Amino acid sequence: VLKRTPLIAGNWKMNLDHLQAIAFVQKLAWSLEDAKHSFDDVEVAVFPPFTDLRSVQTLVAADKLGLAYGGQDISEYDSGAYTGEISGQFLAQLDTKFVIIGHSERRTLHGETDEVVAAKTKAAVKHGIVPIICVGETADDLEKHGQSAVPVAQLTAAIEGLKAGVDIVVAYEPVWAIGSGQAATPEQAETVGAALRAVLAEKLGADTAAATRILYGGSVKSGNIAGFMREPNVDGALVGGASLDVTEFAAIVRYQK
Ligand code: PEP
Repeated sequence: VLKRTPLIAGNWKMNLDHLQAIAFVQKLAWSLEDAKHSFDDVEVAVFPPFTDLRSVQTLVAADKLGLAYGGQDISEYDSGAYTGEISGQFLAQLDTKFVIIGHSERRTLHGETDEVVAAKTKAAVKHGIVPIICVGETADDLEKHGQSAVPVAQLTAAIEGLKAGVDIVVAYEPVWAIGSGQAATPEQAETVGAALRAVLAEKLGADTAAATRILYGGSVKSGNIAGFMREPNVDGALVGGASLDVTEFAAIVRYQK
């Protein structure tokens, strides 16, 4: 049986400057150390703004912290006249393990299409960064198409052209659950998680599908994480608001306790 190490990922969005990031990561590391947390049991990653990444890299390397970190976005291009964009090459040079791609805020506020998400996913893979591909339906989609149709279509488009064995993470984030305080039920997350794994199996083969982590995201807190983690097709969480409070985020990481 393939082991999918659970992943708890904290998306800070546009919060915490580089000094606050250092204080936060130090506190988080201490708190997990006190709890004798094993990163082999549950992987933990934070997603700070780009301007924090160098500071986080320095701290993680100097103190040999088990924490991983990632970017919140990536350019589909390697370099050139793309004002404001960040290359996967730059992220890789900062030992960035993951990158969030196609977050609903990027799709709605920055007009990212499925094609852009697919191109960014390819860019991440090319630079050896694990893409966390975000998919999810809006409240309107849910009413019109049911729960799984839109996430399934988005994932199908995003992984176009990828090959078996590729290291990716999928995050199912119903848009209506993000920042709303109204999380999906564990059953809903499982239903869509299973549908997404079926897409992975069809496009990338059974082995890759079995090895790929599928996260749930949308109003995850310390009080509801355990319910999600009991589902066979939920392998972790992408956490927004609750990832900005060290105590709360550490409690989510320690969901088994
Ligand atoms: C997110 O934006 O990825 C998210 C899940 O946010 P929240 O946890 O605040 O709902």
